Amino acid sequence: MRALITGGAGFIGSHLAEALLDAGHTVEVIDNLSTGCFDNIKHLKNRRGFQYVISSVMNEPLLAEQIDRCDVVFHLAAAVGVKLIVEAPVHTIETNVHGTEIVLKHANKNKKLVIVASTSEVYGKSTEIPFREDADLRLGVTWKPRWAYACSKAIDEFLALAYWKEKQLPVIVVRFFNTVGPRQTGQYGMVVPTFVNQALAGEPITVYGDGSQSRSFTYVGDVVDALMQLVNEPKAIGEVFNIGNGEEISIIGLAKKVKAMTDSASEIVTIPYGQAYGAEFEDMPRRVPDISKIRELTGYEPKVQLAEILTRVIDHFQKQKQ
Ligand code: UDP
Repeated sequence: MRALITGGAGFIGSHLAEALLDAGHTVEVIDNLSTGCFDNIKHLKNRRGFQYVISSVMNEPLLAEQIDRCDVVFHLAAAVGVKLIVEAPVHTIETNVHGTEIVLKHANKNKKLVIVASTSEVYGKSTEIPFREDADLRLGVTWKPRWAYACSKAIDEFLALAYWKEKQLPVIVVRFFNTVGPRQTGQYGMVVPTFVNQALAGEPITVYGDGSQSRSFTYVGDVVDALMQLVNEPKAIGEVFNIGNGEEISIIGLAKKVKAMTDSASEIVTIPYGQAYGAEFEDMPRRVPDISKIRELTGYEPKVQLAEILTRVIDHFQKQKQ
C-alpha cells in the first residue's frame, strides 16, 4: 500500500508513518509544521519508502499529485489543541473545513480511500456516557470558540459522508479520544504532557476548574493499530468509529498520579477556567468512548493502559531533558 499522511509530522501522524513503514508500506507525508515538527519524522528520513514534503494541504497542485500517486489518504492535518483553538478560531475553522474539502475533492477523482480524522469533541456537552457513534451531538453556543472546533470537525464528517453517499468516494471517519504518548507536546494545552513537564521541572501542576472533570486517555500506538485495522476492512467504508480507551480518570486524579509517578515535589494548584482560557470557556465534564463498534468489526482492543502510558511519556521527557 502507498499511503499519504496529511499532517504526517504531527504527533499521531508520525507514529502512523513509522508503523506503516514497519509493515512494509510506502509512506508520503505532507505537513506544514504548524503544530507538527520536523523532529517527529527526522528518524524516518532515510528509511526506504519514505518521502515527505513540507507544505500545506492548501497547496492544491502538490496535494493533487500526491493523492494521485497513493492508494489511501490518512487525512490528519488539522488545527488541534484547545489553546490554539481558543486563541486562533479563524485559523481553526479555515484549516479544518477547507483542508478536508480539498483532500476529498482530489481523492474523488480516482476514488482513493480517505480516512478522515475527527474527534470526540463532536459529542460536545453530551452526558450520555459512554459516547456512542449513533448518539446526538450537543454543541454549545456559537460565540464560544471551543465549539467552532467541534463544529468544524462535524462539517468534515458531514462532507466525507456526503462524498460517500453521493459520489461513492470510499471514506472512513474516525473520532479520536484524548490520544497521548511520546512526541505529544504540551504547547497547545494538552494535559498529559503539560502535567508531566510541570512535575519534572518541580513547577506547580495546573489543574483547571476543580479537577472533577474526567477524560479517558488512549495510547497513540493503540490508535495507530486501530487505523491500520480499519483501512483493511471493507465494511468500515462509509462508517464513523470511536477510537479510544474506556479507562476514565478525573483530572485531579491524573495530577496526583503524575506527581506520584515522577516523585515530584510540585504543588497541585487549581486555576479557574476563566483564567486559563478566558471567561467564555466551557469544558466537558466527562468524556468516555463506547468502543464496541470498532471492536466488533476489527477486534480492536486498547493494549496500553494509563499507568503504562504515563511511564512511557515520563520516560520520553526525561530522555529529552538529558
Ligand atoms: N487541563 C488542566 N490543566 C492543563 C491542561 C488541561 O487541568 O494544564 C484539563 C482541561 O481543562 C480538560 C482536561 O485537562 O478538562 C483535558 O484537556 P486537554 O486540553 O488535554 O484535552 P480536551 O479533552 O479538553 O480536548
